[in-house]
Amino acid sequence: MKTQEKKRILITGAAGFLGSHLCDRFIAESYHVIGMDNLITGDLRHIAHLFKLPNFEFYQHDVSKFVHIQGRLDYILHFASPASPIDYLRIPIQTLKVGSLGTHNLLGLAKSKGARILVASTSEVYGDPLISPQSEEYWGNVNPVGPRGVYDEAKRFQEAMTMAYHNIHGLETRIVRIFNTYGPRMRLNDGRALPTFIGQALRGEDLTVFGDGTQTRSFCYVSDQVEGIYRLLLSDYVLPVNIGNPDEMTVEEVAKEIIELTGRHSAIVYRDLPIDDPKQRRPDIQKANKLLQWTPQVSRKEGLLRTIAYFESLPASALKQKDF
Ligand code: NAD
Repeated sequence: MKTQEKKRILITGAAGFLGSHLCDRFIAESYHVIGMDNLITGDLRHIAHLFKLPNFEFYQHDVSKFVHIQGRLDYILHFASPASPIDYLRIPIQTLKVGSLGTHNLLGLAKSKGARILVASTSEVYGDPLISPQSEEYWGNVNPVGPRGVYDEAKRFQEAMTMAYHNIHGLETRIVRIFNTYGPRMRLNDGRALPTFIGQALRGEDLTVFGDGTQTRSFCYVSDQVEGIYRLLLSDYVLPVNIGNPDEMTVEEVAKEIIELTGRHSAIVYRDLPIDDPKQRRPDIQKANKLLQWTPQVSRKEGLLRTIAYFESLPASALKQKDF
């Protein structure tokens, strides 16, 4: 296939965890991929292997500012946004801007190019949920002025703006509500439970559990998440769809499992729970199942083993300094 015949897709947040895996997937599907990222939480090492390819381009750019792309565009995946609490608490205004102004810029770009756009929303739109599991019909329980409000409300605004562009301009839009996803290329110092626990275990440190560890989480392996996003983009469904793994476990159980799978002998220590930390998170995935014929395929053990192998493959200095 000639380059000009390939489908052209813009992926924002391309140097991040999910964005880089999405770049890999769309390259594997023979798309022409245009990556964009301002590297505020991303890392070019995640996409360095793509730079030599003729069907990959990369632009270092802040999408909260005007975004221009030359030539045709068929699809846009808007994944640029700080995603871990440690990041969005450090850069709350940039987080609000990329969810609002950034989304507006990309919706405008999609409209001008006649492209279909999929935006990355989050299970955080459900806040600290009062029902479990959370289906797409649940409106959520978010504290707008709490510390996490900057992320949750940016994403809620993003969804509202995306629906408005669909309703007013007839734009082809998709909204994925991503639940906790993990795998290779997560950052050792991003504050999320899994990379933190794995890094601590591999360094022979104690594992730090917040609260009493009875809060639950469900973790989706990255290849399952990417498959769900891929199917949703190519589907004709406009309203939000949850993609996540409903296999729920307590944070303490996760810590114990990681100690076992790494073969280390770390102890678990307990620290105060952060403000507004959700007590429970579990996706209802009936919609994804029915509309996209999607269910997670990678077991937690397999996913954790692959993730541990990735962190073990990093240079010892990176593991020690949490610099990857
Ligand atoms: P990440 O921090 O690894 O990646 C985000 C990327 O966006 C980074 O490379 C960062 O540099 C880039 N970015 C941030 N602001 C930008 C801006 N203004 N302009 C250009 N680039 C910018 O995070 P991730 O885990 O890969 O998350 C990607 C997306 O998925 C985010 O929108 C996030 O809200 C969403 N999401 C992720 C999860 C998860 O479990 N990983 C869960 C729910 C939602």
